[in-house]
Amino acid sequence: MTAKLRKNLTTLYATVFGGFLFIFSIIVGAGGLLSIYNERVEEIQLLARQVAREQRGVVIYHYKQPNLPPEERPIQDDYDITGQVFYYILDTNNQLIKVDQPVPVLREAVLAEITNWNPGKITRFTSITLPNGSIATVLLTARPISYEGNVIGAVYVGRDVTAYSRVLVRIVMILILVDLLFILLAALLGHLLAGRVITPIEESIEKQKRFVADASHELRAPLTVLLTSIEAIEMDEENKLSAFSKEVITDVKEEFYRIKRLITQLLALARADADNATLTRESFSFDLIATPVLQVLRTPAEYKKIDISLIMPEPIEITGDMERIHQLLYILVDNGIKYTPFGGVVTVKVDKTSAGGVKYARIIVEDNGPGISPEFQERIFERFFRLDKARSRNIDGSGLGLSIAKWIVDAHRGKIYVKSTLGKGSQFVVLIPDY
Ligand code: ADP
Repeated sequence: MTAKLRKNLTTLYATVFGGFLFIFSIIVGAGGLLSIYNERVEEIQLLARQVAREQRGVVIYHYKQPNLPPEERPIQDDYDITGQVFYYILDTNNQLIKVDQPVPVLREAVLAEITNWNPGKITRFTSITLPNGSIATVLLTARPISYEGNVIGAVYVGRDVTAYSRVLVRIVMILILVDLLFILLAALLGHLLAGRVITPIEESIEKQKRFVADASHELRAPLTVLLTSIEAIEMDEENKLSAFSKEVITDVKEEFYRIKRLITQLLALARADADNATLTRESFSFDLIATPVLQVLRTPAEYKKIDISLIMPEPIEITGDMERIHQLLYILVDNGIKYTPFGGVVTVKVDKTSAGGVKYARIIVEDNGPGISPEFQERIFERFFRLDKARSRNIDGSGLGLSIAKWIVDAHRGKIYVKSTLGKGSQFVVLIPDY
């Protein structure tokens, strides 16, 4: 249980620390990337304004003399310090007026982009797949040139930002890696912290378990002595006791049996908690346990006129701890008889089934008793949980039977659940794997 608590605490710490660091790095990273992006965009827009201003005369000249050939004039000297900037000046018919071309591998794609320029967006990033398969990124911006109130052309300025974008991608990758490292660190830290928190809890749970185990163990011996003594009085003085005393002795004996059963159950659970209960694993025929269980419980069943029966279409082998599975079947059939009203039916069915590639022996204990409402169908397996106090008041029980049953099934790596309809009855299904 504490292992689960530690795991939950570790997950909680890791989520909180990791989440916090993750959000922090996202904010820092995204902020950094955004400012780099904005800087690049502003830079190119500024450059476009500058080119448009300085080249306006050329465009107007071309506007007035439309048949001039395009002029190729590098702008490196004027604008481009890094050698990555290029520009195109086009008239309104997409005729080239003046150009400083980018590196040859980019030319075709860039020209296609600017001749089909979508005026909705002034500045854009374009990815171009190069012949060697790698991706180049180009930042493009447009600036119209007007003359006497008419647009007569446009300046398109571009910049090869492949190197930048590669750096950005690398930064993002580093950020993700750092985040993963953070989360890992947070999980480690969480695990250590959870360990510190859990140690005192573990110690106190351990003490409590030891106390229950020791107390149950110590109580069992004197109780057995008391029970034997009462039985001795009962036998020895049978004829001399008054009717009242006999009644008292019967009541006391019954109470002792109850306490003894409770202590045996507590001890079983304490041992289960301390992992002291070792399971033996053997293959045995189901009727080796079903016959004696039904035999013993036939008396209380007959008392309530309950019909108990076993349905086993073929001999079924079970692999597990015979004594524990006997105990499990006893708990389920005993509950069936206890909670089913006079004249009811309790049936034990057993067969083989398989789920998820695993073969199971399936034991079903079915009754036509009061049923269990859906909200309690899981809770009945909790310790000391008794459903509907009014219903259970007159029925002998401690609320431990099903938790022991569940422990036995879990220890066999099996499954136990209940299917039930209020007013119609319950079906307890147990699956014990064949390994
Ligand atoms: P108890 O000692 O009270 O029988 P269990 O752990 O065996 O404790 O069962 C827990 C509760 O589940 C019972 O108190 C009862 O209310 C409910 N329950 C168990 N078996 C049945 C059943 N066959 N039909 C209806 N209710 C049941």
